[in-house]
Amino acid sequence: MKRKKDNICCSFCGKNKSEANRIIVGPNVHICDECIHICSEIIDEETSNGEDHATFDKIPRPKEIKTILDEYVIGQDKTKKILSVAVYNHYKRILSLESTQGVEVSKSNILLIGPPGVGKTLLAETLAKILKVPFAIADATTLTEAGYVGEDVDNIVQNLLHSSTDIPEAACRGIIYIDEIDKIARKSGDIQSATRDVSGEGVQQALLKIIEGTKVNVAPWGARKYKQNELVEIDTTNILFICGGAFTGLDKIIKNRIDSSTIGFGVKISGIKKKNIGETLEKIEAEDLLRCGLIPEFIGRLPIIATISELTGEDLVEILVKPRNSLVKQYQTLFEMENVKLTFDKRALDAVAQKAMLLQSGARGLRSVLENTMLDIMYSVPFQKGVKECIIHEDVITKGLKPEVIFDVNK
Ligand code: ADP
Repeated sequence: MKRKKDNICCSFCGKNKSEANRIIVGPNVHICDECIHICSEIIDEETSNGEDHATFDKIPRPKEIKTILDEYVIGQDKTKKILSVAVYNHYKRILSLESTQGVEVSKSNILLIGPPGVGKTLLAETLAKILKVPFAIADATTLTEAGYVGEDVDNIVQNLLHSSTDIPEAACRGIIYIDEIDKIARKSGDIQSATRDVSGEGVQQALLKIIEGTKVNVAPWGARKYKQNELVEIDTTNILFICGGAFTGLDKIIKNRIDSSTIGFGVKISGIKKKNIGETLEKIEAEDLLRCGLIPEFIGRLPIIATISELTGEDLVEILVKPRNSLVKQYQTLFEMENVKLTFDKRALDAVAQKAMLLQSGARGLRSVLENTMLDIMYSVPFQKGVKECIIHEDVITKGLKPEVIFDVNK
């Protein structure tokens, strides 16, 4: 019997037990771990190629894109419209390049301007999900010009290739979100600096190349399909770049331009109320970005500018409950697993939103407020004997009181 087991070979590659790490034994057929891996790669590749075709045969219309965005992203209606049209045109452009010799539509990358935590990254990520294209996020603050200490801009493209599970054709049509783009402003440039501006203008110059379209050689993630040290060429021409940043102080720059009363940085303009900042930002023009330290060529590559306003208290309450994977739904799911119903009353939700607003980090504040409140509750309540429901009232959030707990005598 033992002898028979030792003779087991992989039916695909013929390796025996001593040559393979593991062999899975079926009724009349055996397979080694290496062949399983190769089969899985083949299936993955075929599946994603199939998805690509489905996507490009039938790009969702702007209205359809916006409807799906509405499920995930609260508020920001105008921005969602701008993005839906821009992204639809981008992929239509790729199709037209592939199929006709008509007018060549030029690429329109997008600049998203808005405070932190209002959904810039979420918008870009959701767009990639809707279009079923690979997605990568980069942080502009970590980038430096090639050859200097820091992250090389080519790494961004490499990450996109990895997120496409090493399928170059898919990566070439992906979406890259570059966050904190305002942090690579040109250092104030009147006086010729002795040191090169490798993290400011240098990065803008380097990004310019990949945003415009260039061929980058990057290392794939998995070595199996490629030879060791083999590089993959990615053409960035059809990659959609979405850049985001807070551009603090931009509203004042715009207001200065409009008022034409004062010119320049750092001039104190009193009386700009928060609620008007959004309106002011909508009046943005390229020269305002120039004043923020972006170089003209870079601004020219981001022709679509969408501004995102701060979230209101009502938006924050909606974010708590409405999106598919909202925070409240996530906590409720955790409680459900212990057979306990979790309820937040409306005033409690308002209180969470109010507390989060004080943190000034947009919707990100919601999680920290809830985590603080829920820690003790999750530690004990679901494990009390006979508990069937836990209700969070306003004073749980505001005063740290205990939640209402309802017991089932039969439980
Ligand atoms: P930003 O990129 O603007 O700094 P993010 O998109 O990273 O902000 O938002 C952080 C988190 O806050 C997201 O993961 C999401 O859970 C939540 N969030 C932010 N804005 C919204 C919004 N408008 N709708 C729904 N959720 C949001």
